[in-house]
Amino acid sequence: MLDETQLRQNGIRLTPQRRMILAAITSSQGHLTAEEILQRIVPLYPDMNISTVYRNLERLLELRLLAVTDLGGGSVRYEVVGEQRHHHLICSSCGSMVELRDDLLEGLRSSIMQECGFQTAIDHLALWGLCADCRKGGISTEGE
Ligand SMILES: [Zn+2]
Ligand SMILES: [Zn+2]
Repeated sequence: MLDETQLRQNGIRLTPQRRMILAAITSSQGHLTAEEILQRIVPLYPDMNISTVYRNLERLLELRLLAVTDLGGGSVRYEVVGEQRHHHLICSSCGSMVELRDDLLEGLRSSIMQECGFQTAIDHLALWGLCADCRKGGISTEGE
């Protein structure tokens, strides 16, 4: 969760609109599309429209309070970046999705830093591949 006091210490002040966007995402377990965010805000704030949502999403991405990730399904999804980051492994064969612990990416971050002097902002990553079951051929994809 976002700590308002900490945000203020970092000189970040959130407008009511940005606060509403963050609340819409956290109150529904994250991973919302811009359209889904709008649907959740409109009942409370009928003046909100999709371009306002996008404009505020851009700003929240710049502040790294949000991450945008392609989790499949044709549209990107927005997730709040909290203290505890998480990532996803998505199986391109059966579509299953498992959570990946952030500390498993520490090696990648430091290798990139050493090799390229580049500090990566890996806040919410989706990696595609084959899950353990599909690798073993345990799940049939016939008839799909
Ligand atoms: Zn996620
Ligand atoms: Zn699979």
